[in-house]
Amino acid sequence: EHRIAAAPLYWRSSHAPEVPPVLPLVAILGRPNVGKSTLFNRLARRRIAIVDDTPGVTRDRREVETEIGGRKVRLMDTAGLEEAPPETIPGRMRQSTDTALDMADVVLLVIDARFGLTPVDKTFADILRRAGKPVILVANKAEGRAGAASAMEAYELGLGDPLPVSAEHGEGFGELHEAVAEALGPDENARDDEDEEEDTANRPLRLAILGRPNAGKSTLLNTLVGEERMITGPEPGLTRDAIPVEWHDGVGPVRLVDTAGLRRKARVNEKLEQLSVYSSIEALKQAEAIILVLDAQLGMEEQDIRIARLAEREGRALIIALNKWDAIEDRPAARKRLDDTLTASLAQMKGVTVVPISAANGRGVDKLMPQVRKVVELWNRRVPTGALNRWFEDALERHQPPLVSGRRLKLRYATMPKARPPTIIVFGTRAEQTPLDYQRYLVNSFREAFGMPGVPIRLNFRGTE
Ligand code: GDP
Ligand code: GDP
Repeated sequence: EHRIAAAPLYWRSSHAPEVPPVLPLVAILGRPNVGKSTLFNRLARRRIAIVDDTPGVTRDRREVETEIGGRKVRLMDTAGLEEAPPETIPGRMRQSTDTALDMADVVLLVIDARFGLTPVDKTFADILRRAGKPVILVANKAEGRAGAASAMEAYELGLGDPLPVSAEHGEGFGELHEAVAEALGPDENARDDEDEEEDTANRPLRLAILGRPNAGKSTLLNTLVGEERMITGPEPGLTRDAIPVEWHDGVGPVRLVDTAGLRRKARVNEKLEQLSVYSSIEALKQAEAIILVLDAQLGMEEQDIRIARLAEREGRALIIALNKWDAIEDRPAARKRLDDTLTASLAQMKGVTVVPISAANGRGVDKLMPQVRKVVELWNRRVPTGALNRWFEDALERHQPPLVSGRRLKLRYATMPKARPPTIIVFGTRAEQTPLDYQRYLVNSFREAFGMPGVPIRLNFRGTE
């Protein structure tokens, strides 16, 4: 049975668990009742995961992973730390503040713009000033310009301009997001990008080879990897199933991350059609780049489209290998059929790279990894702010932002806080109400302007007042 026989001989064991990057920590501090929890909850809406949520008396912190200013961060709430009577706060506060301060990359010091400053606010400010960490002074409860008077007072804290927000009503968050992004400084990812240029030779590219059963994934892997290019041999003590595959493609090491998806097909009882989508999700999460293998005789079907959409949604670099090209007689027709499907079903991946190959006889396979590298490079690319905003102005000029409930959207500027995948934030009045078709227009225009076909683009909108 070819399914078992085709299982590659190359499962290997150079696998070290991926260490997730440590996200920067944003801590919310302030005396009781200023609105820390309310602010936390609102900022946590773009939550990725709950890191630590222990409610109740023993609670000393809540932490979530979320996105602020286009950056993934851990957000920490210290509310509940100060349940003791106010007089004792400096002592307790000292402790909790110290902990938060040690760990935090940016501190949001919350004050109550309506109530005005208290001695406890000043104590907080003293500690923070001395700590020398970036602090954003958040003047909460400032809805409808309330508390504008106490803003002057807030300058006395020596922590710069107070930033008026209303945690309860969601006002001022565009500026807050921006301020946090600025305070965090250059993105870790950006630094990675630079390191990577020197480091390409050492850091394996995490690749997943996905596709329906029988598309030719195992055959492709065998052709692609070729024994002579293997980096290390299998370590003793591992079953063949558990051994990941790593090889060198001439540019640098490549690590296959979806060995489970490939090996599990040996289990005959599984519903193969289903299995490959589920295991694809796992593989997608771990991979930077995806080769989606299609059987050219069958074309792109629902399940392939689902995988491609998943790749797009997860922000992965994707290319399509159109396999079994040797078995196709009318190649132009096959190619056209695929292009039509791509246009109809994967508009968001416009221009995705398609490489016709024959995994079995090796034809075209040598073009695959260079194309993968190329897409990954684009996926890694950061566009400088100047160029970004020249594009942005130009795009707005060519197509005015639409009216939303009778009023013209005012989009002001764009930033690109991170790559992998390229992520853009557009700021403007009611920017978050930008209709979908205009969002799509901006994405496609960006992709064209910077030559990023098939690269997933993240476009976020932040309203400013
Ligand atoms: P914490 O003790 O600092 O965590 O404060 P909370 O988040 O529990 O909020 C304290 C009180 O202030 C609650 O009654 C909130 O509803 C209220 N509050 C929070 N944010 C705002 C706001 O933006 N405006 C107004 N008017 N009240 C707010
Ligand atoms: P997987 O289930 O995706 O891993 O697919 P396999 O690699 O096991 O291949 C499925 C079948 O397609 C096998 O019978 C292969 O021999 C055949 N196959 C793979 N690549 C090609 C190719 O390039 N051309 C042709 N004609 N057949 C191929």
